Amino acid sequence: MRGAVIHAPEDVRFETLEDPKILHPTDAVVRTAATCVCGSDLWPYRGADETNGPRPIGHEYIGFVEEVGSEVTAVRPGQFVVGSFATSDNTCPNCRRGFQSNCLNREFMSGCQAEYIRIPNAQGTLVATQEPPGEEYWPGLLAVSDVMGTGWWAADAAEVRPGTTAVVVGDGAVGLCAVIAAKEMGAERIVAMSRHAPRQELARSFGATDIVTERGDEGVARIKELTDGTGADSVLECVGTAEAMGQALRSARPGGTVGFVGVPHGVAVDGQELFSSHVGLRGGPAPVRRYLPDLVDRVLRGRIDPGRVFDLTLPLEQVAEAYKAMDERRAIKVFLKP
Ligand SMILES: [Zn+2]
Repeated sequence: MRGAVIHAPEDVRFETLEDPKILHPTDAVVRTAATCVCGSDLWPYRGADETNGPRPIGHEYIGFVEEVGSEVTAVRPGQFVVGSFATSDNTCPNCRRGFQSNCLNREFMSGCQAEYIRIPNAQGTLVATQEPPGEEYWPGLLAVSDVMGTGWWAADAAEVRPGTTAVVVGDGAVGLCAVIAAKEMGAERIVAMSRHAPRQELARSFGATDIVTERGDEGVARIKELTDGTGADSVLECVGTAEAMGQALRSARPGGTVGFVGVPHGVAVDGQELFSSHVGLRGGPAPVRRYLPDLVDRVLRGRIDPGRVFDLTLPLEQVAEAYKAMDERRAIKVFLKP
């Protein structure tokens, strides 16, 4: 089979790789229906993280079950499945509490920008649809496997409630999906912080009521203006930089909550400032598995359409161009079809 391999920063190649096999009785092999490039794949691509290359890359996928190990009974060959970036047995204490992305048997996925994928912990990880969905649902379901699940977690962690004000920091695919989540959870006012016209437009169509283009102190001042001088009930931090986290913490009202889902890079939280602020803080890798059945259902019912974050579709063999387009912000998110 063929798949994407990152060799060094800005060097992703589409290469012939060994076909994935069942290595453990808990594995499945999936034939990829679609995959994509994540904002977090850009960290090694830009050299902000070690590439540790050459290594197969990618962690978002939807596909058809090709083969299952002897202990996998929840899914069978031919079924259409959605997974996520972290595998989970869905039975350990952390899984039972809904934190499957901290499963005691967790393995992080990689090598998903490929024609076939081995899924460890397949029994607990994969969610099958009743029928194979039409291709028009594939972008939405692929979004659910990562960015929509992560946006949902941002809103959940930030305790978005009906009638409240939510601020979303970041206008990447996760931030845009966080707007959808805040809307679904009933936020009355949703402020998207974005400087890019096409992304502002998408945020509005997903439910944002206000757009703030300012950043730093000016951005915080704008949020305070919109919230009677106090700050927002919920702030959803979807970037992962020190600037974004500072913006998020200072945009929340006393007693408000920040949900942070951007993978932190150089983020340090000042304990004294946090103490004084009365702001609650929770984040981490999204427990996408907890939300998958519900989010798959919302997509198939046409209730949400997070697939609209994909604004470029390419054949998988052009994966290098997909990275380039996202790195140069020519595309929000690229849908890749084998
Ligand atoms: Zn577990």
